Amino acid sequence: MSATIIDGKVLSASLKDEMKERIVRLEAKYGRKPCIAVIIVGEDPASQSYVRGKIKAAAYVGMDSRLIEMPADVSQEALMSSIADLNADGGVDGILVQLPLPRHIDSNKVIEAITPIKDVDGFHPANVANLWLGVDCMVPCTPKGIMKIIERMGINPDGKTAVVVGRSNIVGKPVAKLLLDANATVIIAHTHTADLRQVCLQADILVVAAGSQNLVRGDMIKPGAAVIDVGIGRNAEGKLCGDVAFEEASQKASFITPVPGGVGPMTITMLMENTIECFIRRMHSC
Ligand code: NAD
Repeated sequence: MSATIIDGKVLSASLKDEMKERIVRLEAKYGRKPCIAVIIVGEDPASQSYVRGKIKAAAYVGMDSRLIEMPADVSQEALMSSIADLNADGGVDGILVQLPLPRHIDSNKVIEAITPIKDVDGFHPANVANLWLGVDCMVPCTPKGIMKIIERMGINPDGKTAVVVGRSNIVGKPVAKLLLDANATVIIAHTHTADLRQVCLQADILVVAAGSQNLVRGDMIKPGAAVIDVGIGRNAEGKLCGDVAFEEASQKASFITPVPGGVGPMTITMLMENTIECFIRRMHSC
């Protein structure tokens, strides 16, 4: 068996094209476009590259964006004051602070300072609580993108066994909750899981978000499983790679996402979708 490869770039492109048309209609209806504000602190090349990708995606879908660049030694107060300004700014619908932040900044306080209705990352405690309560909320971008990929695979998680490897607050835990909401039986595996192979072998849907290269090998995949590789790492040759041994896994799985070009592009696309959602909610609450 050779798995169908789910091309996240193609899927993202079609979703962004739909958003482009939607934004034209929204502008005609409400008199302005959705706007995302992105704050970046410092010069970290990876963060700079992620932020460039977000601004570029906003331009592609025809959304307004504001980039706020702050020096690495910015004070907590100055950062919080910039967030307060953006919270109060009627022309801004979504606020994103690129993580990680320098060590002298308290990231939790920064996330809590963003008003939940503009929290496009879905990291504010109010949004996290609502996700777990099953109340309408901003859903974090990577888990939301993973669910779109599963939908595109034509898989209904209802009654299936889903294994999520990783229990981070930004990927593992929220995607497990979304799979639970979709009526899957969910198992969360992590570094203390006794026999990862046996656990993974149960998965009809396997989501791997561990940040550990080649963690999941072909012999850990149930024949016909759908495999979603969230990991981003670099191999010895410096090439981007995920957490799943792709060639081996492709022989067992029915569907698989590549790295790069799988979940990554979907994360940015879901950020655009979340900004549109924030815009519509704000327009309706006026
Ligand atoms: P994290 O480091 O916060 O969490 C990793 C989780 O994996 C932990 O819960 C840990 O228990 C588990 N884990 C690590 N090694 C393991 C092992 N050997 N066996 C079992 N469990 C193990 O990471 P994160 O923020 O959730 O990100 C995970 C990976 O996904 C990283 O490679 C990250 O770069 C990538 N990522 C990609 C995107 C994207 O858009 N494609 C978005 C977020 C994160």
